[in-house]
Amino acid sequence: MSRRPVAQINLQALQHNLARVRQLAPQSQVLAVLKANAYGHGLVRVAQALSDADAFAVARIDEALALRTGGIVKPIVLLEGFYEAAELPLLLANNLQTVVHNELQLQALEQAALDGQLKVWLKIDSGMHRLGIEPAQFDDFYRRLWQCSAVLPGIRLMSHFCCADEPGSDRTLQQLAVFTDLIAGKAEQRSLANSAAILAFPQSHAEWVRPGLMLHGISPFIDQIGTAHHLQPVMRLSSRLIALRKVRAGERVGYGGHWQAACDTTVGVIAVGYGDGYPRHAFNGTPVWLNGREVPLAGRVSMDMITVDLGPNAQDKLGDEAVLWGPELAIERVAACAATIPYELLCNITPRVDYQYLL
Ligand SMILES: *Cc1c(COP(=O)(O)O)cnc(C)c1O
Repeated sequence: MSRRPVAQINLQALQHNLARVRQLAPQSQVLAVLKANAYGHGLVRVAQALSDADAFAVARIDEALALRTGGIVKPIVLLEGFYEAAELPLLLANNLQTVVHNELQLQALEQAALDGQLKVWLKIDSGMHRLGIEPAQFDDFYRRLWQCSAVLPGIRLMSHFCCADEPGSDRTLQQLAVFTDLIAGKAEQRSLANSAAILAFPQSHAEWVRPGLMLHGISPFIDQIGTAHHLQPVMRLSSRLIALRKVRAGERVGYGGHWQAACDTTVGVIAVGYGDGYPRHAFNGTPVWLNGREVPLAGRVSMDMITVDLGPNAQDKLGDEAVLWGPELAIERVAACAATIPYELLCNITPRVDYQYLL
């Protein structure tokens, strides 16, 4: 029995979710997004399990190099591109593809003396106003990239949606129209769709889709869980009951006396806290799965522990397993109870958590 919180990673579920992406976007290649330690699931292990993906994407060069060190040979795209010209030889040596989203990057490529050519994805800002060139810059960038000796012929064109997780919003279709009009007549491969757009906007799939969250079995939509989209949760975060105590009606539990017992009851202490990545802002009542039922969080989350109300007739025993999220309890619900999103919960898991990979 592990004495610390365990994140079990179900690699079969991961593969199932990739197959689901292919089912949803049968004409598209899959650029699996593995940034931030594969959304907290473990970069190299996830990449190995996703051997059926066509390519991988990460945010930063260190993540890409960690994949190469881990023996991953598939194409890797740097979603933020390179930051300085000095990195270009490293990109070439490690077969990393780069996004280009600004003039400085373009100039660095134009001035580079490389003994090889890099694959480039030109990022266009179609309305999110984060990364990407302005539509008015497109013709100039397009022409200069094609002329650039450091760039492989056959650039790719991409954009990113700001609101694809709001299926009722017309922003996604507006962005799609901006992008489509801008590149009309161009034969280059295109990529726009994140998980939400893969699920809600099939017209945006194009040649490459870029799923991240859904590969881990999680819904990008508020108020929906992944299983509603035939996805399977990949992570199961669990820990153990390490103390039980009787509290009387009116007594308070935890820091700040933040929770007060309405009746005589038993409080259970579980060995997981914000020092493991459990959200400190989880409200009283946030569900925890224990012995076949949900029990409510009772009191503030501590660094190493949480307290739950087991009820007056609790039969639970020391050492019993509690699930913080996983197949028994959707992470989407826990995130909602902590006023955050599943992405953040996953990224916040700390190295103190033990990872177990299940085939
Ligand atoms: C993170 C990211 C994705 C994946 O988004 P999900 O919502 O996790 O599917 C796709 N494209 C870009 C540019 C990203 O930064």
